[in-house]
Amino acid sequence: MSQVLVGIDRILARVGKRVVSSDARGETITVEARSTVRAAHCPACRRWSNRLHGSYVRSLEERPMLEQRVVLAVEVRRFKCANAGCPRRTFAENIHALAGRHQRRTRSQARALHALGHALGGEAAARLANALGLRTSADTVLRELRRAPGRKRKPRPRVVGIDDWAIARGHQYGTIIVDLERREPIEVFAGRETTAVAAWMRAHPSIEIVARDRAGAYSGAVDIALPAAKQVSDRWHLLCNLRDNVERLLYRLGPQLRQAAQQSRSVA
Ligand SMILES: [Zn+2]
Repeated sequence: MSQVLVGIDRILARVGKRVVSSDARGETITVEARSTVRAAHCPACRRWSNRLHGSYVRSLEERPMLEQRVVLAVEVRRFKCANAGCPRRTFAENIHALAGRHQRRTRSQARALHALGHALGGEAAARLANALGLRTSADTVLRELRRAPGRKRKPRPRVVGIDDWAIARGHQYGTIIVDLERREPIEVFAGRETTAVAAWMRAHPSIEIVARDRAGAYSGAVDIALPAAKQVSDRWHLLCNLRDNVERLLYRLGPQLRQAAQQSRSVA
């Protein structure tokens, strides 16, 4: 495999694909990529399935190189959902990291068009893009601009963790909320009062499970805002709690323990 294809292979590996062939014809290099994954999880019920339903090929325009247009012909597998109770019968594997939904170009190509459009506006950006080998039109550049990150759909968290953190220890505290499925913080605000937390929870009705500490404030907020949500004590706080209690117990029993140790020594 040429060095150039090794680079493309690395990008494709992130979405479970590998390069199987490349074909240079005229001014276009077509790189064919196949799936390496045997199973995927259903976007509706999150259950894994390896029941293959079929596959199709998505053609994605990648950034041009060495004066040649690059098209990735990527196999996308479709699976049957293994969960009989799921509303989704079949689903396609997720290649969002490579290209957005219904997009005919890769994210890296889209980012290039977006940057040009942002700097120059539709017409001038399209002219420069074409001179650089990124075939496009002013309309496409403007469409890319409208897809700007600020307009991204709001995530709908399902499982979140909530905890407090010290802005100034002993004086001022803040609250952090983490989407535990995406593993990313989604909210940080000052304070940890029930009303503020309940207001935030109410604005996120997609939440089904909340992992929290064992203090009452967060638990009360979830009870008020999302009574149907399941509340779980997170492992860290459970262990913390256990350690504190064992420590207190040993401290309280200290004199007796020392006495018992002395007695057993004198008996021996
Ligand atoms: Zn499903």
